[in-house]
Amino acid sequence: MNKPINHPIISIDEIVRPTRVEVDLKILRDNFKKIKTHVNQAKVMPILKANAYGHGLVRIAQLYEELKADYLGVAVVEEGILLREIGIKIPILVLGGVWGNQVPMFLKHNLAITASSIDKLNQIDEIAREMKTKAVVHLKIDTGMERIGVHYYSAEKFLEAAYKCKNIVVQGIYSHLANSESEDLSYTKLQLERFNGVLTFFERRSIKMPIRHIANSGAILQLPESNLDMVRPGITLYGVYPSNQVKKSFEVKPAIRWKSLVVYFKVIKAGNAVGYGLTYKPDHNIRAVTIPVGYGDGYFRNMSHKAEVLINGYKYPVIGAISMDQIIVNIENNSAFNGDEVILMGSDGTNSITCEELAEWAGTIPYEILTNINTRVPRVYYD
Ligand SMILES: *Cc1c(COP(=O)(O)O)cnc(C)c1O
Repeated sequence: MNKPINHPIISIDEIVRPTRVEVDLKILRDNFKKIKTHVNQAKVMPILKANAYGHGLVRIAQLYEELKADYLGVAVVEEGILLREIGIKIPILVLGGVWGNQVPMFLKHNLAITASSIDKLNQIDEIAREMKTKAVVHLKIDTGMERIGVHYYSAEKFLEAAYKCKNIVVQGIYSHLANSESEDLSYTKLQLERFNGVLTFFERRSIKMPIRHIANSGAILQLPESNLDMVRPGITLYGVYPSNQVKKSFEVKPAIRWKSLVVYFKVIKAGNAVGYGLTYKPDHNIRAVTIPVGYGDGYFRNMSHKAEVLINGYKYPVIGAISMDQIIVNIENNSAFNGDEVILMGSDGTNSITCEELAEWAGTIPYEILTNINTRVPRVYYD
């Protein structure tokens, strides 16, 4: 198989680009342990989709394997295959939908399949039979999100069908919560109740209960009865809470510092326009520096006229429109020199710029900030 082109592994030994993401592995370890302790006996499936929420799929998968996570969750089969190719041995579930011609890849690489209809079960069963192997599946139940999965009210037939497939091993059954990060948990409780209703099948038929899982970060933080046999934390592992309103029942810390360097300095005269579209004109002379990061890196253009960065401990505004590869920062009368460190997101010890702030400036949620830091930005790991 050809290697994916947009591959998160850096292929050069020396990182030459000043813009980079530093990931603190110790903080990630602590976050994982906090969650593990909080959920007691439940198994933990760290979610690694979208390049491990921007932290770098490969190294982060290795970290959770070292930490003896029970399972890993990815979004697409390619992510799972990559993890097998680099030698990850623990079980991996692909959370997204599957279609026919992908099934052999799952079987070949020992990846667990999300099965979400009777047709798909039959297809998987047939392919597994041809390949003389057993397919491992987790059955997906829709308890109120209308995404993939069989409706809870028609699940009985789906479960019956699953247990008729001779070449399928039902290892898990799961559902996903639509609203667990909100203050009002009534809908989350309703989804859990519907899921528990479906699960009575196993007692009624005296079938051994597969691994039951439904809790994402919001539920792990707010609704302990949703832990069941396994939890699927994503964003809290990375030290960011799923919303502002969510109950912060344990403390996690962000592990990313997104940094760059000052690469250029100039004085901009009063009245002269800055950047594409001439959207900013200082009314007095200012000093400005250029930083080599832009919307092509995931530093959203929507943050133009709102974003701030940290240089030498001070917060300064980004001026003019954010370009694809560069931003311009107003440092007024202060000084900054080529090579000075710039923090785009993260802390310099005393001051910080949070993922939530970037999300606010960009008019989005922290998830989108993390997952959009482009793979062209090298990830560097600290322990
Ligand atoms: C993304 C995802 C999660 C993790 O969600 P967080 O809110 O980041 O904790 C869990 N389960 C499924 C199915 C997902 O797609």
